[in-house]
Order: sequence, then C-alpha cells, then structure tokens
Amino acid sequence: TGSVVLAATPIGNTADASQRLRELLGQASIVAAEDTRRLYDLANRLGVRVSGRVVAYHDHNERKQADPLLDEVAAGASVLVVSDAGMPTINDPGLAIVRRAIERGLPVTCAPGPSAVLDALALSGLPTDRFCYEGFLPRKSSERRQYLRTLKAEQRTIVWYESPRRLAESMGDLLQVFGPGRRMALCRELTKTYEQVERGSLQEIYDFVQQNPPRGEIVLVVAGASDQEAAEASPEALTTQELAELAL
Ligand code: SAM
Repeated sequence: TGSVVLAATPIGNTADASQRLRELLGQASIVAAEDTRRLYDLANRLGVRVSGRVVAYHDHNERKQADPLLDEVAAGASVLVVSDAGMPTINDPGLAIVRRAIERGLPVTCAPGPSAVLDALALSGLPTDRFCYEGFLPRKSSERRQYLRTLKAEQRTIVWYESPRRLAESMGDLLQVFGPGRRMALCRELTKTYEQVERGSLQEIYDFVQQNPPRGEIVLVVAGASDQEAAEASPEALTTQELAELAL
C-alpha cells in the first residue's frame, strides 16, 4: 500500500517550504490540492516539477473524493494533500481523507510546517502553555456577541482567524464582551514583507484598528480570563487556582 501525506505549505514566505515538501511535490503519485492553480504556482516558485496527477480537493468535494483517492492508496499510490496555505485540516480541507484513512486502516502521515495559529500564538507574547484555537469568528455581529459571551470565562489564550473586512466590527464586539483591559495581539501578514504584530489592551488595539483599517491576512490572539474574571463570569466554575489547590 501507499500512503496519505498531509503537507503544510508556506503562509506567505516561500522560503518556509520544507525540504520534505519539495521532495513530496516531486515524488507523489497524486497531489490533492485545494486549488490546482495555486499548487502549480507554488511548485514553480520552488523550482519543483510535479510529476504526479494533480486533482482538486476542496471543501465542496473532499467527502466525495476521499474514498476514490484512498482506493488508489490501497493500490499503492502516494497521495499528497495540500491546501492553499499552511496546515491542511486547520480551517482547510483534509479532515475527510484523514478520517476515512483511519477507518480503512490505511497509512496517513504528516509533513508539518507553517500554520498561522502557532505563528501568531508564539509571537503574541501571551501565555502559550494552554490555548484554544477557535477558527474564524462568526460573521454576523449578533451571533458573534452571543458566541463570545460563551467564552467569557475561558482562561486559556484564545486564537481566531478574522477577515480584514469584519475586523473593525469584531473588535467592537470583543471590547464589549471582554472589556477594555484584556491583553491581546493583532497579527497581520505573518512571514510576509509587511508582517506586523500590534500588542496591547483590547481598548488599545480597538483604537489602533479604528485609525488604521488593516488589510491582508489576520490572526487575533486574546489572553484568557484571569481567575477573578473567570469567577465573575461563571461563579460556579472552578478557577485554575482552585483546580491547582484541589490537585494538591
Ligand atoms: N490552514 C491555514 C493555516 O494552517 O494557517 C489556515 C487557513 S484559513 C482558510 C486562512 C486564514 O488563516 C486567513 O484568513 C488568516 O486569518 C489566517 N492566515 C493565513 N496566513 C496568514 C498570514 N500569513 N498572516 C496572518 N494570518 C494568516
């Protein structure tokens, strides 16, 4: 049998492509790419010739395509799964084929690399020992506020992807729900020439966004609730402090 390999691709800086990614692109019998044009563009920039078959593998066909691709794996093919940028399966296609490969007992592995989540978290300066990734913020303000309220007592550092078009509005909702003092980082265009990380309180970043409407790709990282904030938001829940005391 062959195998499925999920491979991370650069999120902005082509030089972040790993040696392993280059080799896999050149050698895979099938490349399942979120966008085939972008895949060829990446291969060109890397100076790699893709010799395998390239197939479109995106949100709309990943469930349908998983089994046919895995039939080829069972017959000996190596299937390389790549998304437009970063780690497949992280708000990107890939999960469907991983699940089916596990169910069918077929080998699946990963060639790790860039992902905006970890890049932003590491640069935020906020606690990294416990964090949660929450994908994209809801698009509608009413839903966003309701959703944010469910995270008021969250004590882990929280990471979101957000569109620049909605950022000003989302920052208003974050400010309203979490209050002005919470620390956060606004990470923009990571690994690219104009990479920018603004760190400060929610109020400061809110003001910054109103004055400098940001463009490009954005990750928001917000500190978790303090013990006191968590206790106020959810009086019945145990704080980290109380949990630690119980563990003693
Ligand atoms: N799978 C990707 C990963 O591992 O990072 C994420 C895919 S998701 C569809 C795309 C979102 O990731 C963007 O809208 C943005 O929020 C974030 N993102 C991707 N590249 C980025 C970059 N260079 N700088 C900041 N955010 C980025």
